[in-house]
Amino acid sequence: MHNLMQDWPMLVGRIIDHAARFHPKRKLITRSVEGPIVESTWAKTRANSLRVSQALQKLGIGSGDVVGVMAWNTGRHMEVWFGVPGAGAALHTLNPRLFADQLVYVINHAEDKVLMIDHDLVPIIEAIWDRLTHVKHVVILTDADHMPDTSLPDVTCYEEWIAEGDGDFDWVKVDETNACGICYTSGTTGNPKGVVYTHRSNTLHAMASVQPDMLGLSSSDTIMPVVPLFHANGWSIGYAAPMVGARMVMPGRDMTPGALHEMLQIGRVSITAAVPTIWMLLLQHMEAEGLTLEALERVVIGGSSCPRAVIEKFQNNYDVQVLHAWGMTELSPLGTVCSFKPEVLEMESAARVDVQETTGHPPFTVDIKITDDAGQTLPWDNATQGRLWARGAAVVGRYLKADEHAADADGWFDTGDVSTIDENGYMRITDRSKDVIKSGGEWISSIELENVAVGHPDVAEAAAIGVPHEKWDERPILVIVPRPGATPEKQAILDLVGTRFAKWQVPDDVVFMDEIPHTATGKISKLNLRKILQDTGYKLPG
Ligand code: ADP
Repeated sequence: MHNLMQDWPMLVGRIIDHAARFHPKRKLITRSVEGPIVESTWAKTRANSLRVSQALQKLGIGSGDVVGVMAWNTGRHMEVWFGVPGAGAALHTLNPRLFADQLVYVINHAEDKVLMIDHDLVPIIEAIWDRLTHVKHVVILTDADHMPDTSLPDVTCYEEWIAEGDGDFDWVKVDETNACGICYTSGTTGNPKGVVYTHRSNTLHAMASVQPDMLGLSSSDTIMPVVPLFHANGWSIGYAAPMVGARMVMPGRDMTPGALHEMLQIGRVSITAAVPTIWMLLLQHMEAEGLTLEALERVVIGGSSCPRAVIEKFQNNYDVQVLHAWGMTELSPLGTVCSFKPEVLEMESAARVDVQETTGHPPFTVDIKITDDAGQTLPWDNATQGRLWARGAAVVGRYLKADEHAADADGWFDTGDVSTIDENGYMRITDRSKDVIKSGGEWISSIELENVAVGHPDVAEAAAIGVPHEKWDERPILVIVPRPGATPEKQAILDLVGTRFAKWQVPDDVVFMDEIPHTATGKISKLNLRKILQDTGYKLPG
């Protein structure tokens, strides 16, 4: 009696079919790139996605082809999000903030044949056009009235292009293990690496991420992804929202705190997601302007460590629950989310916030472990730090065009992160393995130093790095960007750190800078920071 159930390949087209069939009128509200706030529905989004698939097929695009998309979070982007895999092709998300050389590299490496880009991003492609090796067509994601003047040859206007089709089309039938999307890692070391998601991995990953202990997403929610769809598979929200028929609010390209607050309010958003920096700026803005949040219930914070002050402010001042999450491009991206298990709900509220500084526990489909450098498994005692490994249904097996596997024979992928795990399975990222500060054979967590330092009221941003030291190997220093108008004192910051760290872990120095370098995904670039300190001849005191 083998396999008597139906053959039901997990193709992402089924997700938008479900949304259009059972939640047809649920809205997508967008601050359009052209300016005005516009509305669509799941039914209309599906209809236009089918037109995109149809139009791509007419261009000769199908299974095995790659379509690059460089666009802000909009309803139109969602049409393309399903239209490209619906044609059998893979959607390659492009980050407009990448340096030109990196963009050229990823577009050529993935062999993008078509580019679909927002009209304001055209100059970025114009500047690199001569270096693109495979691109044959460019579609501008706008209507006829907003088509820009461009030096690009033969550009197509999206709205006119899809209007030519009648949408009488079936999603191209591909195997569920066919490529569905491609997202490159940021390439802080060497060239970016391409992670190729399949229809199956994206579907399973979205099913895992909507669960109650993960995002807890339902048809009663309104979700606003502030995290761009081009960051790490858009944190899966582009699949998770239609899978449950949630309402969507799309912020477009305006990421200023005022604009985001406006969208949260007018869209009556119940759950939103982005990196900590976005929320620090929003909280500052709301405090300065005396603003409130009426509908927001949950905020997903990940991508880098979320400082305790941000968790406390959201929960205590605005009654918004923080869901601290850890993930990476290679994991599609969600690995763990910090929701409360019964063991945590029993705790006093301060102890619960301690737990929220961890990044939580994995859903079914993700497994994690920590080991020492020799590969020996380490205990889950909330104290022992080790290399963090992950495996699962939506974890990378091999990078695009790589000869080697990315995981070992048992499927374990070395995340490059360092963490502890507690007895309840809550995982705390303490560092990236290349950033951990090694002093006298002991490890000091740069992330924890930074989180304490940004708790100082005069500190806007903090980076802890190890500086070579003759006796101790490395000693930590803090690089601090003061809040505008503030002049924090070195000793006051070190005293604050001293309240949470042992004496030998307290940094040897504090260096003030107007600005700290960031990567294209908005994270602190310790590589560049180290270079700046080196170039300016920085020396440890004493
Ligand atoms: P990159 O930062 O290289 O562009 P990703 O966007 O995939 O790549 O980021 C993954 C990395 O971000 C993780 O390996 C981890 O170091 C870091 N990260 C993600 N979430 C968290 C978190 N909540 N706390 C600390 N670090 C995090």
